Amino acid sequence: MRNILLDYLKHIAGDKNVRENLPLSQITTFKIGGPAKFVVDVLSKEILMRLISGLSFLGEKYFILGLGANVLASDDGFNGVIIRIAFKDISHTDDFIYADAGAKLGVVCNFARDNNLAGLEWAVGIPATIGGAAYMNAGAFGGQMSDIIVMADILENGELKTLSANSIKYGYRSSVFQGLDKTVRVATSRQKIVILGVYLKLQRSQKDIIAQKMKDILQRRKTHPKEPSAGSVFKRPFDGFYVGKVLDELGLKGYQIGGAKVSEKHAGFIVNTGGATCKDVLHLMEDIKTRVKNKTGVLLENEIVLL
Ligand SMILES: Cc1cc2nc3c(=O)[nH]c(=O)nc-3n(C[C@H](O)[C@H](O)[C@H](O)COP(=O)(O)OP(=O)(O)OC[C@H]3O[C@@H](n4cnc5c(N)ncnc54)[C@H](O)[C@@H]3O)c2cc1C
Repeated sequence: MRNILLDYLKHIAGDKNVRENLPLSQITTFKIGGPAKFVVDVLSKEILMRLISGLSFLGEKYFILGLGANVLASDDGFNGVIIRIAFKDISHTDDFIYADAGAKLGVVCNFARDNNLAGLEWAVGIPATIGGAAYMNAGAFGGQMSDIIVMADILENGELKTLSANSIKYGYRSSVFQGLDKTVRVATSRQKIVILGVYLKLQRSQKDIIAQKMKDILQRRKTHPKEPSAGSVFKRPFDGFYVGKVLDELGLKGYQIGGAKVSEKHAGFIVNTGGATCKDVLHLMEDIKTRVKNKTGVLLENEIVLL
């Protein structure tokens, strides 16, 4: 069966776009995770549609991965197909941008700036594909994807659809795209919705003003750790409750289990100091949750997605 699947993937996606037993540590920013049975880079929407319908027919598990910047992957790896969206065209008409899901967020930010379009400056420096950012409703410094997304092209149960901003039902780091358990955020074995591309509504401005704002944002992001991580581990439970600040007050900066450590630079991040395993990170997360619950009565929710 494994060989049949391999042949099928190569046939659909092209030989050089299929890899076998690739460690997830090589394709996630946390640099954690065992081997994925197969990783496929998908170069077009047509290939993606065919692939998903084929995998569904074969009863094979799959997971859509962007830049892997918000994912904690299991030490046991993934016994299915990791699909990486590699189509990434960006275009604009007046003050609208259309970006394919695989476009890097930073590239979209620069495209907006170069076309005198403002509204995406807050996003500069967030490691993401635009698909991953739309899925997570990524945000920073007062901005978030839901402020600018007006529509999204998706694939749902094999059908192409366009969703309006309203039907995406955006909330804080949440969206209708997320078929996840709300508290533990464990990825399901097959995603219901795949984002193909997004339409952004921006405002006319001037390139040099936008560039200056981006420079300021990049400066502010210097407080984030440089070691491998998956960004903020927990969601902010409510306005005014800053997880990093609370963990700092609990004396948890630098607290370490195995190779996983609460960042000394920003306590909202857990960093991989070297050989961290998924188990180390999960253990540290549970420990933090217990301490925060005991001290404040608040149960933290994961922001990162467990694969
Ligand atoms: C150093 C660092 C700093 C960060 N700073 C921020 C920050 O300031 N603000 C913030 O919000 N986040 C931040 N993050 C987290 C991360 O960058 C965001 O969550 C980002 O949106 C993840 O995008 P991605 O492409 O890497 O998605 P991935 O991590 O690859 O995937 C995340 C989820 O999205 C799903 N997904 C991805 N693409 C698609 C698609 N096309 N269709 C359907 N589902 C899809 C995946 O299945 C997965 O469930 C940071 C992370 C790091 C490492």
